[in-house]
Amino acid sequence: MMLFKELVLASHNAGKLKELQAMLGDAVRVRSIGEFSDIEPEETGLSFVENAILKARNAARISGLPALADDSGLAVDHLGGAPGIYSARYAGGQGDAANNAKLLDALKDVPDAERGAQFVCALALLRHADDPLPILCEGLWQGRILHSAQGEHGFGYDPLFWVPERDCSSAELAPKDKNQLSHRARAMALLKQRLGIA
Ligand code: IMP
Repeated sequence: MMLFKELVLASHNAGKLKELQAMLGDAVRVRSIGEFSDIEPEETGLSFVENAILKARNAARISGLPALADDSGLAVDHLGGAPGIYSARYAGGQGDAANNAKLLDALKDVPDAERGAQFVCALALLRHADDPLPILCEGLWQGRILHSAQGEHGFGYDPLFWVPERDCSSAELAPKDKNQLSHRARAMALLKQRLGIA
């Protein structure tokens, strides 16, 4: 049952905010934590779920609003699941282009059959900062890592992520298509069911 009309998203990532607002539709207004604070909590968890809860709790405390956090990343088979929870900081916090260059380098000479990867998303929704029972939803998206960047849409590793069901990279998908297929879309579909707005 939906009990609120707005929530704060515990992320400064404009790409995520745009995608999540589009998925939630008009039922809920998504506000950015950037309206309340510039300080991001340290992501000290060892799993996507732990980091999502930590970020949502911090955002609920700062804003006084229900808070949603997405902790997401790319898990590459050949790299034992790396960069995983460290996806945003894979190349030491220098941004998407450096992360993508490091990933291509790590997979240099690795054949297509061994370039499997999945995007992972954990969503945590806390109704208030001391909520003892966060709503948790997860989503996975299977694909493979390309040999060079393709496409202009999306953010992060999208230009390197081949989407087998569409024969293109995730950055070549129209935003509305990515928002139906992605790890975030899958987790969000579950969250909407839990909130009764599916
Ligand atoms: P977080 O903000 O700590 O959850 O880090 C998420 C990171 O994972 C982003 O900075 C991207 O590098 C990567 N990532 C997560 N979702 C996506 C996506 O949909 N497309 C491309 N990269 C993504």
